Amino acid sequence: MAQYKRILLKLSGEALMGEQGGGIDPHTIQRLAGEINDLCHAGIQVGLVIGGGNIIRGAEKASEGLDRVTGDHMGMLATVINALAMQDALEHLGQQVRVMSALKINQVCEDYIRRRAVRHLEKGRVVVFAAGTGNPFFTTDSAASLRAIEIGADLLIKATKVDGVYSADPVKNPSAQFYPKLTYDEALDQRLSVMDATALVLCRDHNMALRVMNVFQPGAIMRLLQGEDIGSLIVTGKVA
Ligand code: UDP
Repeated sequence: MAQYKRILLKLSGEALMGEQGGGIDPHTIQRLAGEINDLCHAGIQVGLVIGGGNIIRGAEKASEGLDRVTGDHMGMLATVINALAMQDALEHLGQQVRVMSALKINQVCEDYIRRRAVRHLEKGRVVVFAAGTGNPFFTTDSAASLRAIEIGADLLIKATKVDGVYSADPVKNPSAQFYPKLTYDEALDQRLSVMDATALVLCRDHNMALRVMNVFQPGAIMRLLQGEDIGSLIVTGKVA
């Protein structure tokens, strides 16, 4: 566990919706909050980025005719809604939390200031980084990569609905090959659906290790941090 003092966990918005078609499922968010709380009790400093796909995605709205930048603003605000829900779920467990937004809405949550975020983490508070990067045309995967690098996380974990990185979508193609370890260049060259290219390049250039794993396996994040080889590991240099 000692190797992971500070992590950045990226949850997609869809991770919060449970069996529902969208929105936030109370049981699902409580379960996830419980897992995050367990990590804090184990002495790990946790930064969180939560997507907004369970509520709104700018690109999808643009395809329906909405102005793209407006759609992205709506998407970023959706991530704030999810962050506030997670803050509440964690506080119910007695865990201290601060939501920090890349967009200024400081009657709702704090503005993102890197030094303050690091201080919160040092004090054992969970920091939920909301509103993505604060800019349209980016994703919350890019926000997660950016914040992980900024706060000096030991590991970026992308928790998804599949077990890790595959040669193709394992849901549509059951013969897809699973990659336990790969480099960012391999992921980029083969256009593997890990994260968007902006996020991958950022991690690659700043030597930020990424673990892609299934968020629907209870306790998996803790077992990973205890040393179990779970999901796929993506690194900058050569794969050992
Ligand atoms: N978004 C944005 N800039 C950012 C991060 C997010 O404009 O830096 C918007 C974008 O419209 C995106 C939406 O917020 O579609 C929700 O984020 P994302 O799609 O990454 O959520 P996820 O798929 O992880 O649930």
